[in-house]
Amino acid sequence: MAQSSIEWTEMTWNPTTGCTKISSGCKFCYAEIMSKRLKAMGVEKYKDAFKVRTHPDQLNIPYTWKASKIVFVNSMSDLFHKDIPLDFIKQVFKVMNDNPNHVFQVLTKRAERLFEVHNELKWTHNIWMGVSVENESVTDRIDFLRKTKARVKFLSCEPLIGPLPNLNLKKIDWVIVGGESGHRPRPMDTDWVLDIQEQCKKSDIAFFFKQWGGRNKKANGRLLNGKTYDEMPEQQLQTSV
Ligand code: SF4
Repeated sequence: MAQSSIEWTEMTWNPTTGCTKISSGCKFCYAEIMSKRLKAMGVEKYKDAFKVRTHPDQLNIPYTWKASKIVFVNSMSDLFHKDIPLDFIKQVFKVMNDNPNHVFQVLTKRAERLFEVHNELKWTHNIWMGVSVENESVTDRIDFLRKTKARVKFLSCEPLIGPLPNLNLKKIDWVIVGGESGHRPRPMDTDWVLDIQEQCKKSDIAFFFKQWGGRNKKANGRLLNGKTYDEMPEQQLQTSV
């Protein structure tokens, strides 16, 4: 596990690593860059760099946490990648099921596989399931997510690289918006952000504005119309399932 600088979570837990690119949101994948860097630094877990790998030895980690945490699962991969066996996905879910005092945020771009297997998974209240929606070409991911049994369903519109004027937000609880960062970030139009914010407001959905991004994301900050927007869904943590 690792503390996270990602604004909408507290820490990361990576029982799988590695991935392959699937849509334009993946163009400057942070996980790929980091995996290669960690391999170069000699970190054993990343010896295969960005190849898809499962790490059964990481499954016991959440059982050791005492205080409640908000955990981003698989910041370095995509749990629903075709090369992650269903049996391993089930093991990851079992860990999340067994630890109801923590919130586990799972984010995927493989919404179709998520839908294919969702009935074989146990959806305890503490699992928040999200899909990435970077532009209009991938909004079908929301339809797959909507059909799952996750109590909290969310969208990560980051990096937002196009307008999303007609989001179907039925059964969606939370929307995160953020711009791309790095050396050659694609621009995010302010109107795209304001439009998503307005759609969330109309549907009474929690809205989280993560960052403007850009080449200097720190300097560009995360104020929208002079305010920070850090809304989150209700956590409903329990000490037993
Ligand atoms: S799905 Fe996520 S982890 Fe996989 S390549 Fe795309 S951005 Fe990277």
